Amino acid sequence: RGTMTVGEMAKSLHKDASEVIKKLLFLGVMATINQELDLDAIQLLAGDYNVEVELKIPVAEDRFETFEEIDDEADLIERPPVVTIMGHVDHGKTTLLDAIRKTSVTEGEAGGITQHIGAYQVETHNKKITFLDTPGHEAFTSMRSRGAQVTDITIIVVAADDGVMPQTIEAIAHAKAAKVPIIVAVNKIDKPDADPEKIKQALTEYELVPEEWGGDTIFCNISAKQRIGLDNLLDTILLVAEVQELKANPNKRARGTVIEAELDKGKGPVVRVLIQHGTLRVGDSFVAGVNFGRVRAMVNDKGKRLKEAGPSTPVEITGLTEVPQAGDPFICFEDERKARIIAEKRSVTLRQSEMGANVRVTLDDLYKHI
Ligand code: GDP
Ligand code: MG
Repeated sequence: RGTMTVGEMAKSLHKDASEVIKKLLFLGVMATINQELDLDAIQLLAGDYNVEVELKIPVAEDRFETFEEIDDEADLIERPPVVTIMGHVDHGKTTLLDAIRKTSVTEGEAGGITQHIGAYQVETHNKKITFLDTPGHEAFTSMRSRGAQVTDITIIVVAADDGVMPQTIEAIAHAKAAKVPIIVAVNKIDKPDADPEKIKQALTEYELVPEEWGGDTIFCNISAKQRIGLDNLLDTILLVAEVQELKANPNKRARGTVIEAELDKGKGPVVRVLIQHGTLRVGDSFVAGVNFGRVRAMVNDKGKRLKEAGPSTPVEITGLTEVPQAGDPFICFEDERKARIIAEKRSVTLRQSEMGANVRVTLDDLYKHI
C-alpha cells in the first residue's frame, strides 16, 4: 500500500530528508529518500514529531462504513476500560498478562477453563477491566491502520534491569499517535540489578515525566513474575479510566471490532470480537468485514456461554460462513437479509479495489501541531 515517499514526508514536515531517515532508523525503519512509507511508519513519524496526520482512504472508507448512531447523553452508562500492553521484547508483557489473569481468577471461578479469545476481563473493586492479549503492537498496527481504535489505555512495560529500547520507543510513538493515555509499568523490580529510577529518568526524554517530578505520567513498579505491585497497577488503570469517563449505550444493536478470527476444525469459522457499543445477543444478525452471519453461540473468556454481551466485553462467536480479519468492524443489523446485502456490497467493493482501482492510499495533508 503506497502512500508517500520519505522525501515527500520530509517536505511536509519541513525537515531535512536526512533527518527523517535518521529518525526512521531510530524507530526501527530502514528507508531511503525515494522509498514509499507505509501507514504505520507515517503514523510513527507523525507521533514522534507531534503532528497530526489526516488520511484519505477511499476504499477503506467504504469498507469501514460504520453505521454509527449518535447517542443521547442520557443513554450512556459507564463501561470498562480496554487496555493494551506494549513494550520491548522480553520485558515481560506475556508474564504480566498471565499474572493479571491468574490474580483475577477468584475462588468461584477456579476450575473454570480459561479460553483464549484474544482478550479477557478481570474484576477489581467491583469494576471490570478488559485486557487485549493479542500482541499490543499488532493490535495497534494492523487494527489502527485499518481505522479501528480499540484501546483506551496502554501499559508500556519496561524492564528495570534493561532500559528504554527500540520497541519501547515505538510503543510510546504509537500510543501518542493514537492519543491513548500511557501507564508505565517498570517491571522486574525483583531483580538485584533493577534500577527503576534510571528508567524514569530515561523516559523523560520521551515526554513521559512522572507525577512526582511534575509531569502527568503514572509509573508503577512491578514484578510480573513475583506478582508484586499488580493490585496497584489495576487500581491505577481504574483511576485513569475514571478520568476518561468511558461510556457507551448498551441499549442498541451491537457494534465492535474483530480482534481475532480463525477456522476451527470443530466449530467452523469463529470470530473473537470486542463489543464496543450496544448489546449483542444470541440470534443477532451481523456483518464482520465482508462476511455476514447470525450469532449461533457466544462464549466469554472463561468459557462460559452467554446469552448477551454489553460494551467492552470480549466474546467468541460462532455462526459465520467465512473468516473475517482482525481489525474488521463488526456491526449488527435488524435482520439477516440486511446483513447479507451489506456484506455482499462490501465484497464487491473489496474485489474492485483488489483489481487495482483506487487502491492507492493518499495522504492529503500533514500539518504541524506546534
Ligand atoms: P515479553 O517478550 O515482553 O512477552 O516477555 P516475557 O513475559 O516472555 O518475559 C521474558 C522473560 O522475562 C521471561 O523469562 C520471564 O520469566 C522474565 N520475566 C518477566 N517478568 C519478570 C519479572 O518481573 N521478574 C523477573 N525476574 N523476570 C521476569
Ligand atoms: Mg510475549
